[in-house]
Amino acid sequence: MKKILVIEDEAAIRDNILELLETENYEGIGAANGSIGIHLAQEHTPDLILCDVRMPKIDGHGVLEALRHDPITAAIPFIFLTAQADKTDLRQGMELGADDYLTKPCTSEELLRAIASRLKKQATVTGSYTAALKQASQQLNHLNYYDRLTNLPNRQLLQERFNKALQRDILRQRNPQLVQPEVNDEQFLPILYLSLDRFSRINETLGHSSSDSLIKAIARRLQNCLDSNDTIAHLSLEHFAILLTTINQKKGIGDFAQTILDVLSKPFLLKNGNEIFITASIGISLYPHNGNNIEKLLQNAHKAMNHAKNLGGNNYEFYASKFSLGASDRLALESSLSYALEREELQVYYQPQVNLQTGKIVGAEALLRWNHPERGLVSPAKFIPLAEETSLIIPIGEWVLKTACQQMKRWQNLGVPSLRVAVNLSARQFNQANLRFMVYQTLMETGLEPQYLELELTENIFLENVEIGAIRLIAFKAIGVQIAIDDFGTGYSSLSYLQHLPFDVLKIDQCFIRHINENAKNQAIVTAIIQMAHQMNLKVIAEGVETEAELAFLRQHQCNEIQGYLFSRPLSVEAFEKLLKTDKNLPIISSFN
Ligand code: C2E
Ligand code: MG
Ligand code: MG
Repeated sequence: MKKILVIEDEAAIRDNILELLETENYEGIGAANGSIGIHLAQEHTPDLILCDVRMPKIDGHGVLEALRHDPITAAIPFIFLTAQADKTDLRQGMELGADDYLTKPCTSEELLRAIASRLKKQATVTGSYTAALKQASQQLNHLNYYDRLTNLPNRQLLQERFNKALQRDILRQRNPQLVQPEVNDEQFLPILYLSLDRFSRINETLGHSSSDSLIKAIARRLQNCLDSNDTIAHLSLEHFAILLTTINQKKGIGDFAQTILDVLSKPFLLKNGNEIFITASIGISLYPHNGNNIEKLLQNAHKAMNHAKNLGGNNYEFYASKFSLGASDRLALESSLSYALEREELQVYYQPQVNLQTGKIVGAEALLRWNHPERGLVSPAKFIPLAEETSLIIPIGEWVLKTACQQMKRWQNLGVPSLRVAVNLSARQFNQANLRFMVYQTLMETGLEPQYLELELTENIFLENVEIGAIRLIAFKAIGVQIAIDDFGTGYSSLSYLQHLPFDVLKIDQCFIRHINENAKNQAIVTAIIQMAHQMNLKVIAEGVETEAELAFLRQHQCNEIQGYLFSRPLSVEAFEKLLKTDKNLPIISSFN
């Protein structure tokens, strides 16, 4: 019921109006003078005020002025009642902000019509005001809870959604009757931590605006994988977190992570028309086993993600307590790595590379191994990045090069004259000013002819500065060594920038080779890479060939060489020598020409 305050010193008129209001279903409040009127207006905040102009002490104008200065009463519709339509009264009242003017005596209809029209107007004003307020608060809410770049929930909202999911979980435990029949103890609330692989490289090369668009496109794809009850949050540039509430069995969670990886592996189209391939690493932690709050769960999922990344990326891992080695472990590893060379804990393994036309071993990739006294064999994926960060890669890399060249010369002397060795060079090494001299000197000292040394470089070396990279490469070519691009396809799909660089070999990354016979997209990529490489007079090596089916595909598409577990794992010197002696070959398929 609308409240109307009637300020009128003449009791008869006041009662009359109050009576009329009551019959019309308004709640009327009467005030016998201006000061009582002001007081009641402040106390009741009526929906409308009818006020006489001429009153002793505080007149109507005084009342209006007082109410307009008080924020609580300032917006209340105000109608003046006056005995005679005095033009000065009217102007003064309007200037003070009165909404209407009624001359006494007025008919009931006139009075009610004026009241109704003011209330209606007020309703639309407050209506739009409330709507504006609602919109503003929604916007504020959005800013607080959503990431501006991707429009995905932020960490804060993730936390709240996690707490809500937890409350539902606790509720379910307290009310077993709510438990659905298939619920059992092996149910979890999983948090997935997703990080894009090699994103800093992409970010630097694309520039911020294109990487932002890429991140948005990634966010959209990720969101499309989710059920509406799940939450994906954007934590920072290349990091996302997913709270799954709809899948709670370990197998299903793993399958979901794989789906996400598959979805992301489809190329993204950049504004300039180029396609880009990205991969991601996912770490998974499970409530309640790996933490009972979101911070802990994110922390552990992050550790698992790092583990997945160290294994080469494009992978997912469930958290295991052994991942919690943390910073102190890294430090210990770092300090023991600095002694590894002098303690002779490093070793070079050799993985055969086989020519598909002849079926023979034509070369070997030198792969570093660290025989840690306590930890056993440490993967190069784990310690090479560490060596890079600490510059230890420089002496270690020199040692690998020298060891590999010496070894190759020995095997050549043993009767495999054209055996070639491929040595990996990291970005840090490549950017060393005296690298060319060091390589030249090593070749001189070991007596290995330069054409039997192949240096493997990854694309990222050139993405930073193509011109400088090109000058360096040309200088290397002058020595006579071969240059291979390693892990090709994992950073950029475009071969165009490579056209101007003097490469000899393209190594297709193993992620494209894996299950190629079942993956039409990878088939198309690999076929295109081989064709383009051949047009550019490059030799193509496929890495990570594990199955006969993969081999058959590569043969059919005239890939030049393969390397992979199918033929042989990386081998110690002794084992490689044995292999050479057995004269192991890949069978030659006659249709290949
Ligand atoms: P990469 O140069 O791409 O080497 C190929 C990796 O794939 C090797 O891993 C090799 O063991 C593995 N591999 C070969 N065939 C197969 C297969 O059929 N299936 C699977 N799943 N894997 C296969 P590894 O030896 O662990 O080396 C990892 C990475 O560490 C290398 O990747 C390379 O980037 C780096 N690395 C190794 N040795 C050196 C080195 O002396 N210097 C530098 N700078 N980096 C090195
Ligand atoms: Mg390599
Ligand atoms: Mg590789």
